[in-house]
Amino acid sequence: MKIHEYQAKDILAKYGVAVPKGEVANTLDEALEVAKRLFSGGAKGVVVKAQIHAGGRGKGGGVKVAKTIEEAEHFAKQILGMQLVTHQTGPQGQKVQRLLIEETAAIDRELYLGIVLDRAAAKLVFMASQAGGMEIEEVAAKDPKAIHKAYIDPAVGFQPYQARELAFALGLKPTQISEAVKFMTGLYQAYIDTDASLLEINPFITTKDDKLFALDCKINFDDNAMYRHKDLKELRDTTEEDPLEVEASKYALNYIKLDGNIACMVNGAGLAMATMDIIKYAGGMPANFLDVGGGANAEQVAHAFEILLSDKSVRAVLINIFGGILRVDTLATGVVEAAKKTNLQLPVVLRLEGTNVQEGKKILMESGLNFVVAETMKDAADKVVAAAKSAA
Ligand code: GDP
Ligand code: MN
Repeated sequence: MKIHEYQAKDILAKYGVAVPKGEVANTLDEALEVAKRLFSGGAKGVVVKAQIHAGGRGKGGGVKVAKTIEEAEHFAKQILGMQLVTHQTGPQGQKVQRLLIEETAAIDRELYLGIVLDRAAAKLVFMASQAGGMEIEEVAAKDPKAIHKAYIDPAVGFQPYQARELAFALGLKPTQISEAVKFMTGLYQAYIDTDASLLEINPFITTKDDKLFALDCKINFDDNAMYRHKDLKELRDTTEEDPLEVEASKYALNYIKLDGNIACMVNGAGLAMATMDIIKYAGGMPANFLDVGGGANAEQVAHAFEILLSDKSVRAVLINIFGGILRVDTLATGVVEAAKKTNLQLPVVLRLEGTNVQEGKKILMESGLNFVVAETMKDAADKVVAAAKSAA
């Protein structure tokens, strides 16, 4: 789960991590109010920042520094409601519905801090780099030595000596070291407490008067841990997510939209991955990843099917189910229900095995709908790719 920068900064503040003074604004009026408050509080300038779930906003024109209230108003007008395109949004961009208005900082240096799980090392890794303010992926590719890393032993957690080493690697002044250690320790604690999967401060800045600030912040949470964070769950902004993925999450379906035209309905993540592979092997492109889960009921299956069909790029559907806890007859009932309700026109190829497979096939054959039954996965992939090609 992703959250906005202003929400992430609220969390950081609770952990004693310094963030610039600022407030979120949902309308132009609110933006003006915040800007006025900041200026009358002594701010020399304010920065108007688009709040979308994607990075690279600065380059895309979504971050502007204003020296006066009039300028702040001008930028707020310009950014609020714009379709902001960054390297992370795709060419269609993302509509800006919120702004963060903050007091500007007198930036001395722009640095980078980040915490992620390193799956290969099976440890969290704390990263620090002097190459802040730019795309860290690019730094990692061109100059990996510019990224300093501290691997965190889960038994003892992030240690002060590790924070000191990173602080020295960043070339911080002796007077900034202890503040930096507190800053990094706060970040680590926030990461652990919130069950984050990524926490990034880019840029992490030093100011001309030697202070440290998180000028930007990105936090992603582990979806699988959200059941124990009711307060964090409320930070979700579904208007930033793919509508079909939001719909799928309502029915506890694991759905991810992809670029192809063959919709896949599969039970089990492993089988879903294998299905996507074999579709590609047969020369097709999957339109989605969908794992209906091991214990789906007919209603969930019906919803899943409707979600697949509401993707306009879909030309054919492949249902690949190994009936275990989800019995094949349950699946068949759900599919027939949804197919009738949505007046299904697309070709559907089925590959079914497992519990109650005969009963399931019977329900499908007697439904009067036009299903193609395949024998093996390879056969199913070939048939659905052919069907998608002739329907395209
Ligand atoms: P991102 O492009 O989505 O990562 O957005 P950031 O919040 O990182 O902002 C991009 C860049 O805008 C930063 O790297 C800074 O150079 C600049 N910026 C952000 N806030 C301020 C500020 O308060 N003052 C100044 N001078 N520049 C800022
Ligand atoms: Mn940034």
